[in-house]
Amino acid sequence: MEKVVTRFPPSPTGHLHLGGARTALFNYLFAKHHNGKFILRFEDTDRERSKEEYVDSIKRALEWLGLLWDEGPYFQSERLELYQEYAKRLYEEGKAYYCECSKEFLEERKKALLEKGLKPRYEGLCREKKLPPGPGRALRIKVSEEEEIIFEDLLRGKIVFPPEEVDDFIILRSDGTPTYQFAVVIDDLTMGVTHIIRGDDHISNTPKQLLIYQALGVDLPYFAHIPMVLGPDGARLSKRHGAKSILEYKEEGYLPEAVINYLARLGWGYGDQEYFTLEELIEKFELNRVNLSPARFDPEKFLTFNAYWLKNLETQRILPHLKPFLSAYPISNYSEDYLLKIIESVRVRVKTLKEMAEMIDFYFLEELKYDEEAKKKFINAHTKPLIKALIEDLEKLDLEDEKAIERYFRGFAENSGVKLKDLAQALRIALTGKTVSPPLFEVMKFLGKEKVKLRLMKAIK
Ligand code: GLU
Repeated sequence: MEKVVTRFPPSPTGHLHLGGARTALFNYLFAKHHNGKFILRFEDTDRERSKEEYVDSIKRALEWLGLLWDEGPYFQSERLELYQEYAKRLYEEGKAYYCECSKEFLEERKKALLEKGLKPRYEGLCREKKLPPGPGRALRIKVSEEEEIIFEDLLRGKIVFPPEEVDDFIILRSDGTPTYQFAVVIDDLTMGVTHIIRGDDHISNTPKQLLIYQALGVDLPYFAHIPMVLGPDGARLSKRHGAKSILEYKEEGYLPEAVINYLARLGWGYGDQEYFTLEELIEKFELNRVNLSPARFDPEKFLTFNAYWLKNLETQRILPHLKPFLSAYPISNYSEDYLLKIIESVRVRVKTLKEMAEMIDFYFLEELKYDEEAKKKFINAHTKPLIKALIEDLEKLDLEDEKAIERYFRGFAENSGVKLKDLAQALRIALTGKTVSPPLFEVMKFLGKEKVKLRLMKAIK
């Protein structure tokens, strides 16, 4: 097979969402699986709605996901001359012609056709006029009125469009800018794109694009139209379903590994396997395993994937993603080894990095923020003397030995007649400020004697 080249061509009119990210992922995986090239291109010809801010956020989202492009980003707005060059060629070869029909006139014709119960289409009024280029003239491509338009979709097989589907459509507007269909084809052609993998909402664009390829006399790329991602209610996925942009998931504490894995599973499968790393996906990705029925986004399941990767990813790979969530704390004072151990101790208890950070923030605080109500309730006349006694005993305890610590506490509770549970809760508040924390003995171990002592003393003061 020739070298595979795929592309992801977002319009920078919004942030990268799940559906777009999945399209990018499938293009990336297909290219990498075949040792090919993945291109990023911004379709920014809509100057009104395209924003630098979105270019930037889409790039950051792709980088965060690890979907690094090999070429680009290209910008359609910088390629105007190229489109004009190709348009000129079609004009000179007699495959396109200038049209002087005004907007108002075309509106009238459209109305007239509709009144007759016909589908509105351009009737080829300027086809034989042989007009040269000039102000107010758009360039239209000549389309056969008899031939069916056929292409072979890699996922769906043969797709046939009747000839009346497409009229002589505009490729260059009277202001010299290309139409969307034309720019896409010229880009894909000149960038050497071999496989166009995109949402099936683009199937209806394909006949026009095929006609442009044919007029240019060049080979067609392969097309694969993947089903849309739907919301839980079966409608096309949108904000309404609580779906967020990729960078919002980042802010909420999702791991890129989880997002990639979940996106891949939205409409692609490999036997019963649920969890994949990006490397594994590259190895296993084939288009023929793409599911033809639309995938439904399930936020609960998505969260489960995040919990899975928080439990299973090497702690070294979790740490850099966790750090931004701890930026309010002086974590640089702690060794990497220490941070990794803390991650290990809480990873099974949380579903997001944000929860993880909230669960462990007390390790890094000089001044604890107490849950005041709980403090009043549990650090009371019964438990205060015990905490005092414990401070005295601390010297002879080995906090590294969790088993021994546990034995000590059991004995301690028995002798004092206080329930271990209540004592533990008092200690938990004294050491972490909160009522929910990682296991107490672990907390003591990681805090170390010095800090344990200080915090206990402070709590009973
Ligand atoms: N720019 C189009 C979009 O954002 C993609 C066009 C294509 O894949 O051909 O939907």
